[in-house]
Amino acid sequence: MSQYAQVSGQLAEPPSGTQPSGMRPESSILSAGQPGPESEPAHGMAPDPAPAPDTVEAASGGLLSGSPPESRWRVLLVDDEATQRLIMARLLRRAGYEVEMAADGRQALAMLESGDFQLMITDWEMPEMDGVALCSALRSLRRQPYIYTVLLTARDSIENVVTGLSSGADDYLTKPVVEAELMARLNTGKRIVTLERSLRLVNEENRQLSVTDPLTGVHNRRHLMEQLPRAIEHAARYHRPLAAIMCDVDHFKNINDTYGHQCGDEVLKAVAQRLRSGIRAVDWLIRYGGEEFVVVLTETNISGAAVAAENLRERLAAEPFVSSCGKLAVTASFGVSGWHGEVSSDASLDGLMAHCDMAVYDSKNSGRNRVSVAPLD
Ligand SMILES: [Mg+2]
Repeated sequence: MSQYAQVSGQLAEPPSGTQPSGMRPESSILSAGQPGPESEPAHGMAPDPAPAPDTVEAASGGLLSGSPPESRWRVLLVDDEATQRLIMARLLRRAGYEVEMAADGRQALAMLESGDFQLMITDWEMPEMDGVALCSALRSLRRQPYIYTVLLTARDSIENVVTGLSSGADDYLTKPVVEAELMARLNTGKRIVTLERSLRLVNEENRQLSVTDPLTGVHNRRHLMEQLPRAIEHAARYHRPLAAIMCDVDHFKNINDTYGHQCGDEVLKAVAQRLRSGIRAVDWLIRYGGEEFVVVLTETNISGAAVAAENLRERLAAEPFVSSCGKLAVTASFGVSGWHGEVSSDASLDGLMAHCDMAVYDSKNSGRNRVSVAPLD
């Protein structure tokens, strides 16, 4: 649940002391083409020193960036006029932003594709690629995470505003830009970006949960149904081997009946743990049914899988499981299927699982706690 904690934390705004916005509400920063009166704070307040690199993060407890805490808000500033760029960059840096600059849309687009920006401020009128074309290009990339974009323009007619926003800009500011307004609008952007990021994390967590078995923490059957057909197709197309092991805990019903379901659950968890510790990181462990597990071994033929299965069988049988009901000796019957060579072109999930199932059946019938093999070629 740590991700949730992180997510909710991200929604907090940074302390207002880290933002000099509002310090000079009257100053227009892009109208005169001259640096604003940066050394003359209004209202008799002391100059706001640029924060040290880690001051902003420290003051906000790492919340300013949304996530991760070690990064800062990165703004891509796009303007063809060097003076305007520098003036605004200075303001943004003073406000704690990390700023990169581009002189036209084409350059900006290249930087957006490779850089990690959360915000972009772009001029409209530029050579090569203008701000509207840049916004359209950025949105057509469908880039994630989202980049909140503010378009700067001297055009303030309704038609122009509509054109700017339709191109994919999230907001627009008419020149001359007022510092306090710019900062307020960037704060809105930060809220949107943070929210989008939180939603994405929650979605990702939900996706993980939907393919995880809640009891054992290993993948569930849904994951197998989603991923195995792709893995089989991939292996068949590129002439690679693949194999699967099915494992059914012996006499599991007796454990449940004798010691109760809670104890049965403990055994299943422990079995999953022991199986997981006996496979490679690239193999997938799935809880297939009640007391049935499946291991999918990519890049492995059936002979290799049989060796792996024998190893897993020994691991389970080697020592009893310690549970709240005492030490319980648990074994399992294994069924292995796959190909001696590459995966055949007519391979299917159903065929592979049916053969594993048959092999498990053979193991059960010949005394349990053993490995049987049912090749597909
Ligand atoms: Mg321009």
